[in-house]
Amino acid sequence: MSLGSLKLNKGAHANFCKRFLFGIPGTFAEADSSRAAIGFYCLGALDLTELLESKTKVTERDGWREWIWEQQVRGNTVSPSSDTNQEYVGGFRPGPFMRMDEPPNLKHSDEPETDEPVVSTSDISTDPPHLIMTYTAILSLAILRDDFARLDRVGVRNLLRATQQDDGSFTATPGQGEADVRMVYTAFAICNMLDDWSAIDVEKAIIFIKSCYTYEGGFGQYAANEATGGPTYCCLASLRVVPKEYASQASLTEEQRQKTIRWLVQNQRSGGGFCGRTEKVADACYSFWCGAALKILDEGALIEERANAHFLYRCQASVGGFGKEPDDRPDPYHTYLSLASLALLRVRGDGFDESWALPRLDPLLNATEETAKWAREHLRSN
Ligand SMILES: [Zn+2]
Repeated sequence: MSLGSLKLNKGAHANFCKRFLFGIPGTFAEADSSRAAIGFYCLGALDLTELLESKTKVTERDGWREWIWEQQVRGNTVSPSSDTNQEYVGGFRPGPFMRMDEPPNLKHSDEPETDEPVVSTSDISTDPPHLIMTYTAILSLAILRDDFARLDRVGVRNLLRATQQDDGSFTATPGQGEADVRMVYTAFAICNMLDDWSAIDVEKAIIFIKSCYTYEGGFGQYAANEATGGPTYCCLASLRVVPKEYASQASLTEEQRQKTIRWLVQNQRSGGGFCGRTEKVADACYSFWCGAALKILDEGALIEERANAHFLYRCQASVGGFGKEPDDRPDPYHTYLSLASLALLRVRGDGFDESWALPRLDPLLNATEETAKWAREHLRSN
């Protein structure tokens, strides 16, 4: 088959994602509870297509930044056994991220530079800070090149401390919600960006991650769960972002590693895409979760990158965006992850023209190398 005329339609993908930043369409009502994450996928797609500056105005970007900062909250945790010395927690809540029906709120812009974080003190018992939203808010702010002067680092550290469970896992919010490897990953990614692991028990968390390893070689969301691509990425990335002193505890045995590699490689289907579970159909998001997992294991050479790109080409919608499979409705999640996969599993030449060139991606933080560098440089605790 000739791939000579295949194009990656970056402009349409950027336009598709930009529309979500002005308001989630009614047909995507199910995305409402994770708006901060949707915002990250949209801003991430604009970052990956390198069209953020040319497709959006300064006032729009300022408005989105201010809006994200308004989601930073602080308050006391509500726990049945709460002692009076309990520390407050901070971080970011999920929220109506993309509202542009009001002029951008720039109320902080005239205030003098201060090291004191500006934090809205809402009632966090109904609206608590959330680990995944904190991770996505931080990366969104890094994409928008915010200087993080307003970040309440103490609050974020306290959130990490308050969400870690006795078995090493983390809940999404203090004392509530599921505890699984997605939360461990976001906690580890935040510690990596802050360059501060003091708030959490890393060894316990590594034991929890390893308890999610399955007989197939992939990882489940929690112990005794079926191996799936997303959790496998979360576990492998977590085991790689830890500080050097935990490296030997965090490494897999050679036998485990080989099994993981085999399972991931087998997930690449004959059509070029990856499935997330053994013998299922390919889905665009697993081109990132499984592809990045292999990259983290330094086994990217085992991936058929051109077949993967060809599958993702077919998942592109004519209106822009990627669906989970060819001819499916596009959404920001699959759009961002498809672009992230293509940034990682690079194809050029022999029919793949310059439209397929994308900036390099940091597979551990899941952001462009430039954005990841910005985040690490500006978040580092002083
Ligand atoms: Zn998917």
